[in-house]
Amino acid sequence: MGARVSVRPTTAEVHEDALVHNLQALQRWTGREKVLAVVKADAYGHDAQRVSRRLAGAGAWGFAVSLVEEGVALREAGIDLPVIVLGGVYPGYEDLAYVHRLVPIVWEPQQIERLAAAKRRSGRANPVRIHLKIDTGMSRYGALVDELPVLLHSLRSEAGNVAVEGVMTHFACADEVDDSYTATQLRTFAAALGTCAAAGLVPSLVHAANSAAAIRHPEACFDMIRPGLALYGVTQGGIGDALGLRPALSLRSRIAGIRRLPAGTAVSYARLTTLTRDSVVALVPVGYEDGLPRRATGKAEVLIRGRRFPVLGAITMDTIIVDVTDLDASGGDPARVGEEVVVVGRVGGEQIGVEDIARWAGTIPYEVLCNVSRRVPRT
Ligand SMILES: *Cc1c(COP(=O)(O)O)cnc(C)c1O
Repeated sequence: MGARVSVRPTTAEVHEDALVHNLQALQRWTGREKVLAVVKADAYGHDAQRVSRRLAGAGAWGFAVSLVEEGVALREAGIDLPVIVLGGVYPGYEDLAYVHRLVPIVWEPQQIERLAAAKRRSGRANPVRIHLKIDTGMSRYGALVDELPVLLHSLRSEAGNVAVEGVMTHFACADEVDDSYTATQLRTFAAALGTCAAAGLVPSLVHAANSAAAIRHPEACFDMIRPGLALYGVTQGGIGDALGLRPALSLRSRIAGIRRLPAGTAVSYARLTTLTRDSVVALVPVGYEDGLPRRATGKAEVLIRGRRFPVLGAITMDTIIVDVTDLDASGGDPARVGEEVVVVGRVGGEQIGVEDIARWAGTIPYEVLCNVSRRVPRT
């Protein structure tokens, strides 16, 4: 959790208007009004409680989290809309999920039995709402089509205690350059829906599409879309370019110190970089604990006055060393302590996105966003 006293000038700004803009852009693009906004992992580092309150007011249908405890936190934040638990309920926590009206995904008969037992124990009348998860090729959560008959039988015997509101699946390759596997998964999903229908189960909500599938595959949008990343204004490989999404998070700091170092000096841990000229470097209090991955060493850049400057040597836990020699060399206005440094965000025509950081670090934007630690105050 963030400290209560905040001295360091490193902050993550969450642009709530961008969240609303992105929600509406996705609704327009897909023609779907119902959006299950994915706010797992603290809304990809954007602060789940705050994001959910804002999107609830902007017309989101409901929220998806990974964990029961994330769902409970939304209820504690006053969120009254549906909350789907994408990771299901760990055995023993069915009562907790039920009293908070969380809607777990389900893919095994034992899960149905445990949820039904929790409902009976409660003495309450309303059934446990669930979404049935079909594994169409992701091989994570979900029932294979062949396993459906047993599952549907179990649901029939608990009718009244457990109510299927939705049937869903999840794509493995929707954001890959070659996402032809999505079509294969869609065919398997159609077969599963057919099996459900034949057994008399016609869910009120069918959903499958994460951000990339919602943007690229109209036929995957069904009754509701289930975006996470795109809501935060980020996509991979330019998938969302046509939508005009706006990044919801910017990460900024300020120069904490300026040093002059002679040519030939090695910089930072492991002495990976040696200065080839007399240099002016800025110490900036942001490091891999704040979301700039150590693996971006050698590639990372930051913006100062709307210009790109390279990070020298290894990215450390709390601090980067930025080469600002060119500000001096241009004869004008040398870098000053207190000047703003943009790690993620836009200044004038220049922009650094979490996509850029992910590329530098050889990872995906999701991981970059999740690694902006809670010690960075969200403003
Ligand atoms: C995380 C997740 C999503 C959202 O994916 P994005 O790529 O962030 O849009 C949707 N569905 C499931 C099951 C997920 O786990």
